Amino acid sequence: MSKINRKQDALDYHSQGRPGKIQVIPTKPTNSQRDLALAYSPGVAEPCLKIAENTEDVYKYTAKGNLVAVISNGTAVLGLGDIGPEAGKPVMEGKGLLFKIFADIDVFDLELDTKNVDDFVKIVKALEPTFGGVNLEDIKAPECFEIERRLKEEMNIPVMHDDQHGTAIISAAALINACELQKKKMDKIKIVVNGAGAAAISCTRLYVSLGAKKENIVMCDRTGVIRADRDKLDAIKAEFATTRDLNTLEEAMKDSDVFIGLSSADCVTVDMLKSMTKNPIVFAMANPNPEIAYELAISSRKDLIMATGRSDYPNQVNNVLGFPYIFRGALDVRATSINEEMKIAAVKAIAELAKKPVPEAVNMAYNEKNIKFGKDYIIPKPVDLRLMTNVSSAVAKAAIDSGVARKIITDWDAYTEELKT
Ligand code: NAP
Ligand code: MG
Repeated sequence: MSKINRKQDALDYHSQGRPGKIQVIPTKPTNSQRDLALAYSPGVAEPCLKIAENTEDVYKYTAKGNLVAVISNGTAVLGLGDIGPEAGKPVMEGKGLLFKIFADIDVFDLELDTKNVDDFVKIVKALEPTFGGVNLEDIKAPECFEIERRLKEEMNIPVMHDDQHGTAIISAAALINACELQKKKMDKIKIVVNGAGAAAISCTRLYVSLGAKKENIVMCDRTGVIRADRDKLDAIKAEFATTRDLNTLEEAMKDSDVFIGLSSADCVTVDMLKSMTKNPIVFAMANPNPEIAYELAISSRKDLIMATGRSDYPNQVNNVLGFPYIFRGALDVRATSINEEMKIAAVKAIAELAKKPVPEAVNMAYNEKNIKFGKDYIIPKPVDLRLMTNVSSAVAKAAIDSGVARKIITDWDAYTEELKT
């Protein structure tokens, strides 16, 4: 398909028929006068009174427990940048669509016209009665860090900024499996992270909680290596500043085991890849174009494992492997937050799933005969229905074990069956 056709197709897809991608559908009968008298006045007063007596009953009588807010101010939309809340709305509707089709979670997308952190926090906090969870989306760094931190502290429902933690979780699962295949140990690998934004910081934090050593990490931004002696170093970048005497990405890449790219297109050269150790791992995740083109990278050396953010190459680090099921698990046990334990449970469930035999439906969806764990398959494919059961239940279990669940599941077989339907 030509680029022009694809652009027009995308516009038509959104504008034809009812504009946009989502609608609200009633879940109860509405056929008779009786139905309407139950759905609204006078019948609706009964659940109102129950909830007034016991606030938790809101989960029993309303859609709250299966409703997630996808909230953005449009300041860091996809790779498009600060395009504003209205322009970000197609993405937020799209995210709602993914929540629904992958995990049957309903979403209201909310685009906020504010760049002020205090206002953003105040608005979202006031929405707590409506929602079972909050997915923060496409909010620029560094504001996204403070917004998420404050909302997590102040709210009693799960809050997750997916651009940070979704990416971290999926790439960490991929990293665990890539290390296994390349016979490298998490606590030994020398990692170069290019980028120091929302995704890079959160990914690096998660790799550290999974065993990577801070002293083995070098992070770079547009200015080059983030050195501890840099002038005007902000607190977030300082977390991964190095005391090693390195200045450029090129110097940092030499003898490294892992390259994590969360920056921009084409900033890595073949020579840099060639200077890495034996059996290197290269996750070039800048979207839409990676830090080094896939073909160029894999033709530069045979011992490399490569992942990108793109669906047209193997090993796509795609957040859709995570967020629908992380929220599914969190909502199902009415978790008060999405904590570190739940994120790590998701990482492990995703990593483990890639090592299991692939169902025929997945092979067929990709027109392949025998997808199996190896260099070109280190993370599951988005169409793998087992993500729903495996990841959601791992997250739900971790919520219970770590004490943030308000509803306990005891019959895991029944829960797994429920997830399949
Ligand atoms: P962000 O918050 O805007 O951060 C971008 C970071 O990259 C900044 O720290 C910036 O440096 C740095 N950077 C940009 N160009 C660079 C270059 N040539 N060399 C070194 N550093 C460079 O953005 P983000 O949300 O973290 O996303 C970053 C990239 O990752 C985007 O391309 C995004 O599409 C991609 N991403 C992919 C996935 C995925 O594959 N699943 C998920 C999330 C993000 P300064 O701090 O100096 O400005
Ligand atoms: Mg996003």
